[in-house]
Amino acid sequence: MRVAERFRELYGYEPDGVWAAPGRVNLIGEYTDVNDGFVMPLALPHTALAAVARRTDGVLRVHSSGTGHGVLARGVDSLVPGSGTGWAAYPAGVVWALRDAGHPVTGADVHFSSTVPTGAGLSSSAALEVVTALALSELHGLGLPREELARLAQRAENAFVGVPCGIMDQMASACCVEGHLLHLDTRDLVRRQVPFDLAAHGLRLLVVDTGVRHALGDGAYAERRAWCQAGARALGVRTLRDVDCTQLPEALGRLGAPSAGGGAPGTPDDRISRCVRHVVTDNHRVERAVALLDAGDVRGVGPVLTEGHVSLRDDLRVSCPELDLVVSSANAAGALGARMTGGGFGGSAIVLVESADEDSVTGAVLDAFVAEGRSAPRIFPAVPSAGARRLG
Ligand code: ADP
Ligand code: MG
Repeated sequence: MRVAERFRELYGYEPDGVWAAPGRVNLIGEYTDVNDGFVMPLALPHTALAAVARRTDGVLRVHSSGTGHGVLARGVDSLVPGSGTGWAAYPAGVVWALRDAGHPVTGADVHFSSTVPTGAGLSSSAALEVVTALALSELHGLGLPREELARLAQRAENAFVGVPCGIMDQMASACCVEGHLLHLDTRDLVRRQVPFDLAAHGLRLLVVDTGVRHALGDGAYAERRAWCQAGARALGVRTLRDVDCTQLPEALGRLGAPSAGGGAPGTPDDRISRCVRHVVTDNHRVERAVALLDAGDVRGVGPVLTEGHVSLRDDLRVSCPELDLVVSSANAAGALGARMTGGGFGGSAIVLVESADEDSVTGAVLDAFVAEGRSAPRIFPAVPSAGARRLG
């Protein structure tokens, strides 16, 4: 394997093994994992590979084939939150999280090579963390269960890298199964693998990577989380997960019903009401999608996706013109449904189409981008793939 060869060139000896962890797209349930709610991602065929050898002298060396990704060489004892720099903070954070949880990680040499596009909302960061956590768990004989790997990877990203993400990305990368969606309750990590055989239904799920990343994203993400928490406090619940969709009208009545339509953001209270409405309805959309899939009505999921997009665009306000353009142009060309996926402000959208319409819908999306003078997005099928695993 190329990644093992590169390891040999870099470090001058054989790796102990090669591991893989995938990126993901989320079918439905956005900003719900930061409210203890439901999500339903699938793993992509795109993976982060890691060739790894265990060390016993307390040294960690990491290298990545991505351009501009240099080597980090550090004593594992010196890893403390805030001490990691650049991309290497992701794997170094995992080593820190493992050691901080009391696991005897005594060092490693690592070389990464990843096909997950970075910053595209497809979780290249979680892939890097989870492949590191799995390799180190196996090489140090820790035998950690999948949800524990995901928890430690999330802790690395939250506390070491400083990104306040939920648990969805790491759970998807660690726990997805080929041919399935992962229906996950992020409150207790109870999960079910939901068969998602699109080909058998004559369907395709497309990922449209807009290639855009608006700087606004990071602060806006934290802001949305804070508004959700404010909503939960005002309603006297621990998290918005505790508000059922049947209780939504009463909850909005107490908070002050959101202003109509998708106009300019209103008062602070209006923003909180809109966040509440998004989270409660998106949790419900996950449950509706699961019920449709269980009933064999995969096409029925299409309109649920588009509803989810409207909610993210108008209530949570995390979309952007490029993501809206994917959704509007795909739907106008006959897609069954489409929505932005991931944190928003750029990144990727997903589109559910009849296989027979794949070319015409793809063409329509590309034409729409050209007509607006925008660079062409990258479009590829979301084939539900395996979660993290050892390759050799
Ligand atoms: P996403 O997870 O949606 O791709 P993030 O901003 O969360 O976007 O994570 C992207 C960051 O993860 C990159 O800026 C880089 O620091 C790190 N990263 C991802 N893949 C690699 C890789 N193959 N090599 C080095 N760093 C990577
Ligand atoms: Mg990420």
